[in-house]
Amino acid sequence: MDDPLVARMRGFGTTIFAEMSALATQTGAINLGQGFPDEDGPAAMLDVAVEAIRSGGNQYPPGPGLPALREAVAEQKRDRYGLVYDPATEVYITVGATEGIAASVLAFAGPGDEVIAFEPTYDSYAATVALAGATLVPVLLRPEGGRFTFDPDELRAAVGPSTRMILVNSPHNPAGTVFTRAELEVIADVCREHDLIALTDEVYEYLTFDDAEHVPLATLDGMRERTVTVSSVGKTFSVTGWKTGWVTGPAPFVRAVQTVKQFVTYAVGGPWQQATAYALRNELGWVEELRKSLQGKRDRLITGLEAAGFTTFRPQGTYFVQADIRPLGFADGMELARALPDKAGVVAIPTQVFYQHPQAGAPFVRFAFCKQDHVIDEAVQRLARLS
Ligand code: PMP
Ligand code: GLN
Repeated sequence: MDDPLVARMRGFGTTIFAEMSALATQTGAINLGQGFPDEDGPAAMLDVAVEAIRSGGNQYPPGPGLPALREAVAEQKRDRYGLVYDPATEVYITVGATEGIAASVLAFAGPGDEVIAFEPTYDSYAATVALAGATLVPVLLRPEGGRFTFDPDELRAAVGPSTRMILVNSPHNPAGTVFTRAELEVIADVCREHDLIALTDEVYEYLTFDDAEHVPLATLDGMRERTVTVSSVGKTFSVTGWKTGWVTGPAPFVRAVQTVKQFVTYAVGGPWQQATAYALRNELGWVEELRKSLQGKRDRLITGLEAAGFTTFRPQGTYFVQADIRPLGFADGMELARALPDKAGVVAIPTQVFYQHPQAGAPFVRFAFCKQDHVIDEAVQRLARLS
C-alpha cells in the first residue's frame, strides 16, 4: 500500500522535539533541546490537582471549561492587561496552547486562504495551517542589533487578496524576541488596513527579561475586536505536561473555535483545570520568582556558550537562546544537532526546522535554559570540547 498519510501532511514526519528528546534518552546526553523545566511548579498548585482527583473531580468537565478556570482567566486578563472578557462567552479552555492554536487556525482558515507568520515559526503552525488546507506565508525575522526582528515592508508585501490571518508569537519561540510596542503597531496597522484576524500565541507572557514588556496585541487600538489570543499553564507554572490552555477573544470568534474544538477533544482534564484556576489566582508571586531565576539562567547559559565559542543572541523572553555555530567552524545546524550527543553529550534543537527555506536558519541551534544551574554548568563544560 502507498503511504496512508493524507497528502497535505506528508513532509511533516516526526516533530523535532520528539526526535531530539529520543536522542537524548538513547545517548544519555544532557537535553537542552525540548523546552521543559526540570523542577516542578508551585507545591500548593500540585496539591490542588491531587485533591481534585481524590475528591471526585474525575468525570467530563463542561466542554468550554470549568467556570472557575474561565473566570480565573478573565480576571488575569483584566488585572494584568486591562482586557475585559466575558468568562461565559469569550474564554474557552483547550488542551494546551497547541490545541487552541490548531482549533483557531482550523476555525478561521481553509483551502485558498493564506496565513502570515513570522519565521522561524514554532513547529505546530506550519503543520496546522497545512491541516486546514491553507497556505503559510512566512515573513522572516532577521538578526539585527543583537535580536531577531522583521522588516515592516516585507510584512506589508506579504499581504495579498487571500490573506486571512496573521499569527503572532510574542515572546517568540525560537527567536527569543519580545515584540516592542512599535513592532506590534506595525502588525496592528496591517490587520486593521486589510481587515485581518490576528491569532496571538502568548504562552511565554510572563517570561520576559530586563526591561522587555509583554504587550498583548489585543490591547492596541481596534485590535481586541479582531484578535484571538492563546495562552496556557505549561510555561508559566512549569507544568508543561498538564496541557491546559485557553483562547480569549470576541464571542463570535470563540464560538467558531468551540465549533472545531468540541469535535477534536470535547473537553480538557478537570483536575488540571482546577489546579490552573488556583494557580492563576494565587501563585503569580511564584511566577515572578521563576522569571527572575530564568533571567539568571539565561545569563549563565550565554556566558558558557560564548566561552565555548558560540556567538549568542540574548533573548528578551522565553527560555531559549539562539547560538550561531559558525565561529566553531560548523555550517549546518541540523548536522551539528544530530552529532552533538556524540561530540559533546548535549542535545540542542536545529533552528532550521522552523523555516520553509532551511538555509536561513542553518547557522543556528537553540539551547533551552529552563534547567537547574548545575545542569547548565555541566552542559557548557561539555560544549567547550567543541573548540
Ligand atoms: N506555542 C509556543 C510558542 C510554544 O513554545 C509552545 C510549547 N510550550 C506551545 C505553543 C505549546 O504550548 P502547550 O504545551 O500549552 O500546548
Ligand atoms: N514548546 C516546546 C519547545 O519549543 C516543545 C513542545 C513540544 O514538544 N511540542 O521546546
